[in-house]
Amino acid sequence: MLKATNLTKAYGSLAAVRNVSLTLEPGRITALVGASGSGKSTLLNLLAGLADADAGDVQLNGKRIEGPSEVLVPGHDDIRLVHQEYQLMPNVSVRENVSYALRFFEKSYRDFRVNQLLKLCRLTDVQDRIPRQISGGEKQRTAIARAIADKPAVLLLDEPFSHLDLPNRLIVRDLLFDLAHHDNTSCLFVTHDATDALSVAHTLGILRDGKLIQLGAPVDVYRQPSTAYAAHMTGPVNILKAKYLSLFGFTDVTIPDELVCLRPEQIKLDNTGAPAIIKAVYFKGSHYEIEVNLSRYVSLRLLTTRDDLEVGHHVGISLKTESVWQLKG
Ligand code: ADP
Ligand code: MG
Repeated sequence: MLKATNLTKAYGSLAAVRNVSLTLEPGRITALVGASGSGKSTLLNLLAGLADADAGDVQLNGKRIEGPSEVLVPGHDDIRLVHQEYQLMPNVSVRENVSYALRFFEKSYRDFRVNQLLKLCRLTDVQDRIPRQISGGEKQRTAIARAIADKPAVLLLDEPFSHLDLPNRLIVRDLLFDLAHHDNTSCLFVTHDATDALSVAHTLGILRDGKLIQLGAPVDVYRQPSTAYAAHMTGPVNILKAKYLSLFGFTDVTIPDELVCLRPEQIKLDNTGAPAIIKAVYFKGSHYEIEVNLSRYVSLRLLTTRDDLEVGHHVGISLKTESVWQLKG
C-alpha cells in the first residue's frame, strides 16, 4: 500500500502540489483528473520518489520513500512511473527496450518474461522494430511493458490515454484491469480528460491548483461534484443559479444565488414540462445533444435519441428534484 501524507511542493513561489494525502491499495485503480498545470505530473514524481517534497511524505508498506536528494539513484524498485513522453531508448528494438528492465535476471527467465510482456501488451509483432518505426500506441505499450517488467507493487501513469485513438485506449484500459486483478498492482493514472477515468478507476480524485479537492467513487464524484470545477472536469454539465429552478416549478430553493449542477442526461424532453426553444442540435452518433433556451438567462444542454428535432422547435423539458445537485463553490 502506497500512502502519501500532506505532500507539498513549490517551484519558487508557485505551489504546484498542496497538502495532498492519498492511499493506493493493491489491486485498485485510482485516477486523478485535473486541468493542465494542476500539479498532476509533479505529484506523480513525488509519489515515485523522483522529486523531493517540501513537506509531507510517501510510504510504501509503512516504509518512507526517500527523495532524490537522499539517495544515489532516484526512484524506488517497487514503484514505476510511465512518463508522458515514454522515454524509450531510441536506437534499440522494442524487445530490447523491455528486456533492459530485466537485465539483472537470468537469461532464461528474462526471455520467458519478455515474451509474456510482449504478448500481454500486444507487441509481439513489432518486437524487432525500433521506437521510431512503431505507432504512438505501441510506443506507449512498450513503456508500460518496460515499467511492469519486474512486477512493481505500484504503477503510476502520466496521461496514459491522452494521445491514443479509441482502440488503443481500450487496450490500455484492459491492460490496467489485468494488472490490478491478476498481479494485484496498485495503479494510479492522471489525466485532464475524465472520459476514461470514469469507467476505468475504482477511485477518482479531482486535482485543482495542486490541491486534491474531492476523492471518491467515480459515480459519486460525477453525480455529486463538490465544486463547479469538479463538475466540469468529470463531464458535460449544466450549471445555473438555484433561483432558475423555479422555471421547473421548484419552490423550495433556499439560497437563490447558489449554484446547482444538472447533468445533460438527467433532463428530459416532456410536452408537459417547462417551455423551451431549441437553439442547437448536435448529432453524437448514438444520440443527439441539444441546447435549449428556457429564458433569456437560462440555456441547458440535454441528451435525446429523438431525431425529429430542429433549431427553433418549441419543446417542453422536465427535471426530477433528485437530479439537482447543489455545488459548494
Ligand atoms: P500538470 O501535469 O497537471 O500539467 P505540472 O505538475 O506539470 O502540472 O505543473 C504544475 C505547476 O508547476 C504548473 O504551473 C507548472 O508550470 C509548474 N512547474 C512544473 N514543473 C516546474 C519546474 N520544473 N519549474 C518550475 N515550475 C514548474
Ligand atoms: Mg503533466
